Amino acid sequence: MIKNILTIAGTDPSGGAGIQADIKTFSALGTYAMSVITAVVAQNTQGVRSYRTMDAAFVGEQIDTIFEDITVDAVKIGMLANAEIVEVVAAKLKQYAVKNIVLDPVMVAKSGNSLIDESAVLAIKEILLPQVTVITPNIPEACVLLNIKEPIAFDEMEQEAKRILQSKSQWVLLKGGHLIGDICRDVLCNSQETYEFVGKRIITKNDHGTGCTLSSAITALLPMMTVPKAVENAKEFLEEALKSSNQLSVGHGHGPLHH
Ligand code: PLP
Repeated sequence: MIKNILTIAGTDPSGGAGIQADIKTFSALGTYAMSVITAVVAQNTQGVRSYRTMDAAFVGEQIDTIFEDITVDAVKIGMLANAEIVEVVAAKLKQYAVKNIVLDPVMVAKSGNSLIDESAVLAIKEILLPQVTVITPNIPEACVLLNIKEPIAFDEMEQEAKRILQSKSQWVLLKGGHLIGDICRDVLCNSQETYEFVGKRIITKNDHGTGCTLSSAITALLPMMTVPKAVENAKEFLEEALKSSNQLSVGHGHGPLHH
């Protein structure tokens, strides 16, 4: 049977990030896509203009309608906007005993706009992370989670990924896209194993929604394979989507990927 995959996240009307990128990724990987909306965002390839958050109880109601009717094989969590929404999402995932949860701790868009209240960060660490299978922070998000000011350097990736593990998610994928230089390094670890993915940076202006796409690809693959295999295959999917993004002509800023 085809796997049913749910995203709980914010929107991007221009189609490159958020819910829209998640759905395209789930479909491209042959799964059935479903979505619960936490926030409606006015944004395009040039940046985020503003957003309106859904009422937390209404986010909970959307989640109920899905789980009362449909078997869900994996859940990706993206933009959560505020602490109330974090609390509802964490409670519902617990209530429905959801396995295979990937959390992309969306905080700041590439355009520099914040997509989350400060109060939500503490709620993510304390309530949500212990339920999560894989958390996929980039370096700025990892610094917020760890409460550190200095950016993380190439040879500190493993040590910092292990520090994030202490907040009790099962796996951490610390993404090195923000490292300085041509070589990127991502580190995946749980309490026993560490995997490293090192590769040459793909130079393109079309990088809007890369984090959303990678975390969605991991989620879609997770019901069918181990976490390290899902991350490896999701990274290959992202690489292809980045490389073929030059076939698209969408907007004047950071263009979307070709899913
Ligand atoms: N908008 C939404 C709704 C998102 O969830 C994300 C994800 O990180 C972004 C924007 C960020 O997009 P970008 O890749 O341009 O930073």
